[in-house]
Amino acid sequence: MEKLSAEEIGDLARKIALDTLAPRASEIDQKRSFPWENIAQLRKSGLWGTGIYEEGEHFEFNRACFAALVKEIAKACASTALIYVSHTIVAKAIEHAGSSAIKKKWPPEMLREKFLGAFAVHEPDCGSNAGAITTRAKKEGDAYIVNGSKFFITSAGEADIYLVLVRTDPEKGPQGMSTLLIEKDSPGLSFGRPEEKMGLTGTSSREMYFSDCRVPVENLVGKEGEGAQIIGKAVIGWGFFGAAAISVGIAGFATELAIKHVKERIIAGQPLAVHQAIQFMITDMILETEASDALLNACATQADLFPDSAVLHGFKAKLFASENAVNVANKAIQVLGGHGYCREYIVERLFRDARGLMLHFKTSEWLRQDIAKAVMGM
Ligand SMILES: Cc1cc2nc3c(=O)[nH]c(=O)nc-3n(C[C@H](O)[C@H](O)[C@H](O)COP(=O)(O)OP(=O)(O)OC[C@H]3O[C@@H](n4cnc5c(N)ncnc54)[C@H](O)[C@@H]3O)c2cc1C
Repeated sequence: MEKLSAEEIGDLARKIALDTLAPRASEIDQKRSFPWENIAQLRKSGLWGTGIYEEGEHFEFNRACFAALVKEIAKACASTALIYVSHTIVAKAIEHAGSSAIKKKWPPEMLREKFLGAFAVHEPDCGSNAGAITTRAKKEGDAYIVNGSKFFITSAGEADIYLVLVRTDPEKGPQGMSTLLIEKDSPGLSFGRPEEKMGLTGTSSREMYFSDCRVPVENLVGKEGEGAQIIGKAVIGWGFFGAAAISVGIAGFATELAIKHVKERIIAGQPLAVHQAIQFMITDMILETEASDALLNACATQADLFPDSAVLHGFKAKLFASENAVNVANKAIQVLGGHGYCREYIVERLFRDARGLMLHFKTSEWLRQDIAKAVMGM
């Protein structure tokens, strides 16, 4: 694909998302089906590969472009958008720290039909604290032997390759963590059943179990001990902006649906839109969405200009946008009344999808603590 600005990517994505992704979103949600067809459409359009670095050909895909694309995909189908974000995180870790052999092998695979990446940090007993992971990778000859489990992993069981945070040295705390690329069919890797989630139901969240799972040493991304740094660059430095963009997309769509509804719905001879109580809610929805979008764009621009600040900016954008999206979608339900509580009118799905983003990556509570600590230098 030729080089496009964030605005051009957004325009192209809007058209593709509306025409080809949106019509399937309700079915994906209700059947809890993995959106392979949407992924195929994005691949066909060339948008799927925009975040993937191929040797010798860099699309200059910055966070502003990423956010513009993810917002539009999320408006049509938030599950598809989250799967795209997870896939891109793997590509960004490879771009940032992969060996030349990894950079040669995996990006072309990641552009291939039906090939998908996912990341696995979270464990049953670590919460949002990646530093508390216990999944162990012990080097034995030309392989790492991995034991442990990962919990709630988007695209698990569907993805072909997983960026997995492991502990290579139990004595060293954060410096004892590393990242491995683990293939789906690796001996010793198995998956739990899909979690029955409230929203984002097309994303196949499962547990991953590693039992003497053998991973070739060449699948180490970066050096041993650099795991925390690589997760910081890829998951926080890109994924958090993706989560914020999904949230803005959801909030924008909820606002559009609410405005359309209040103009069309006639009660006692008058459209709902004439009532001040409704107007107040619509105004709040517009401002909450625009404020999230503005903060996301400002944070993405700062992170692109000053990569060392990407983590803090990712935290801010994600916290603000995910909470606003829940508030906006909740107001949309209120504005639509009983209709808003029914599947046919979509806003209930948007509320359920938005709710997951206050938990995924880091919860709001962790983000509030982390932002305050970073700003206060603690
Ligand atoms: C839709 C979805 C998709 C996900 N996809 C992935 C994925 O692809 N890869 C991946 O690695 N992970 C994924 N996750 C996991 C996600 O990272 C975790 O759910 C998240 O970090 C929260 O951890 P937890 O669910 O164990 O909550 P808990 O840690 O059990 O938290 C419960 C509550 O306690 C609060 N809390 C916990 N500890 C503290 C503390 N020290 N101080 C203050 N409050 C605290 C939390 O904020 C929260 O309110 C996904 C989660 C969701 C919901």
